[in-house]
Amino acid sequence: MFEQILNAADAIHPGLGQIVAPLGNYALLRQFLSGLAALLAVFAVVFVLERVCGGNLKRYLTRNFRTDMLYGVFYRGGIYNTLIYVPVVAALAAIVPAWDFQLIQYLPQPLDYVAFWLITDAAGYWIHRWYHSNPILWEFHKVHHAQTELTFVTSFRNHVVEQLASNVVLFVPLKLLGFPLWYWGPVIVLQSLFESLQHSDLNWRFGRLYPVIVSPVFHAIHHSPDRARHDSNYGKILSVWDYLFGTISVGERPQRYGLAGVDMPVSFSGTMVTPFKELWKKGRQSIHSIALVTDSSGLQAREEPE
Ligand SMILES: [Zn+2]
Ligand SMILES: [Zn+2]
Repeated sequence: MFEQILNAADAIHPGLGQIVAPLGNYALLRQFLSGLAALLAVFAVVFVLERVCGGNLKRYLTRNFRTDMLYGVFYRGGIYNTLIYVPVVAALAAIVPAWDFQLIQYLPQPLDYVAFWLITDAAGYWIHRWYHSNPILWEFHKVHHAQTELTFVTSFRNHVVEQLASNVVLFVPLKLLGFPLWYWGPVIVLQSLFESLQHSDLNWRFGRLYPVIVSPVFHAIHHSPDRARHDSNYGKILSVWDYLFGTISVGERPQRYGLAGVDMPVSFSGTMVTPFKELWKKGRQSIHSIALVTDSSGLQAREEPE
């Protein structure tokens, strides 16, 4: 992939490839360029599909889209993996093998791989549901839901705390069950492609497969500003979990997306900082109200003897 980029650079301007070539020794730069190329390839496919199906292409001219592109580059371009995910998982992997039960060895191939997919997807459903029910986690997950202009790259718009927590919560049990790490690759690629499609402006329901596989319409309902609707349809790839656990919402795509009454900045840095600010504000309010209750009960206690 990198050689192709160097050749393309040389084709644009002879000698340009030679200037860029030494930088190719850096793994992060290679990851960055291949991640960017993958994002642009998905963009090209989705853009054509949306144009053919009558999607609103003006979304790609908004600042909302540029922010989500930054999220895409941050996660797909190796920055998150190199600086955060790999060091954390390496530290965890050093601890976890001591409790590795290797339960998966009792399943024949390819049944173990099917089990891996089902467990990963079901866990993804429950983790997502947890982000909606826990008030602290919801502050971080709001970053994903505050987007009013859904595009293929909104799938990457996850706060770094949410992303890391989801990765760790999934990694530990799967490592304990004994799944090899290389099983992750196809899951991540397919999930990423599916999620890009789910955030595209395509009125696709997947026909009879609607109750089985998450379609763009299914996930669009999850981005409704109406709480009853965004607290539903948590599925990642399979929608069966929502049918099984009673969180299904059907119907048409919402007219608008986002969260009513939530003041979320449009910038990348703003979306990263806001959850911490909100939690700090709520923490202070809670301490203040506890202090008020304690003060008033103390006052009553002092008044009682009179
Ligand atoms: Zn959600
Ligand atoms: Zn989404």
